[in-house]
Amino acid sequence: MKQFPGFLVRVIIFLICLIKSVGASEPPFSVALENSLQIRYIANEGVLLTHGKQKVLIDAHHFQGNPLYDHVPPLRLQQMVNGLKPFDGVSLILATHMHADHFDAATVGQHLLLNSRTRFVASEQMTSLIKKEFKQYEKIRGQIETVTPGVGFFEEGEFNGIRVKLLGMKHSGKRFNTMQNIAYIIKLGKYKLLHIGDADGSIQNFEPFKLPSEGIDIAFIPYWFLTHKALQKIVNEYIQPGRIIAIHIPPAKAAEVAKEVLEYYPGAIVFTKPLQTVEF
Ligand SMILES: [Zn+2]
Repeated sequence: MKQFPGFLVRVIIFLICLIKSVGASEPPFSVALENSLQIRYIANEGVLLTHGKQKVLIDAHHFQGNPLYDHVPPLRLQQMVNGLKPFDGVSLILATHMHADHFDAATVGQHLLLNSRTRFVASEQMTSLIKKEFKQYEKIRGQIETVTPGVGFFEEGEFNGIRVKLLGMKHSGKRFNTMQNIAYIIKLGKYKLLHIGDADGSIQNFEPFKLPSEGIDIAFIPYWFLTHKALQKIVNEYIQPGRIIAIHIPPAKAAEVAKEVLEYYPGAIVFTKPLQTVEF
């Protein structure tokens, strides 16, 4: 009988621990939402990343360019620059290079003008184009940061509270030799995301950055890297992402490309439908 109270105390402690551990494994709904990452397809290589209060737009401001590829329809572009849902409170705008199917200087300028909290970080070619083409540049110059790592080099910084690594990579194709193409590694919560723009698929272009040791969780990859044997080597050996999102898909060939991508990479997500959304 003397030992009974001690036993009872141990049972009660055990029960309290059990309740606590169950509680810990299922966080309240709002906490789960805070930590989750949402990725929306905008057009071509354009995506919106949302993690808690942080929002990042990459290659999402364009309405023309190569007619083969997807562009942002006028109404959506208006919603974006006006900061209407889901584009409200964008922290950071990034653009990989200045080709018209990735970037429009005046549209980015307008977005910054109407959303004073938003920052734009890109290479000199793009920021100088805003200076040249956007009439109210003086009002937004404080929101713009120019970072231009040379090919094979990187620079790192925190912009509006978001950790970003900018990698200088060659654009594909000899005729675009002078095009500055920046790949971005963005850290959002526990996730590391990579966007390579139109990077050239040579080993020399990827090797310097030792991407496998970065531990990339999600990589946005132009679809041709996923369907051509020689370029698959880059993905498999020089990027090694946890998850692949295929982008830059011509709408006219969407079904056929999606099928081919999934044959080689069954776990890939293929972005073909505007505002298609995935959650992690
Ligand atoms: Zn390009």
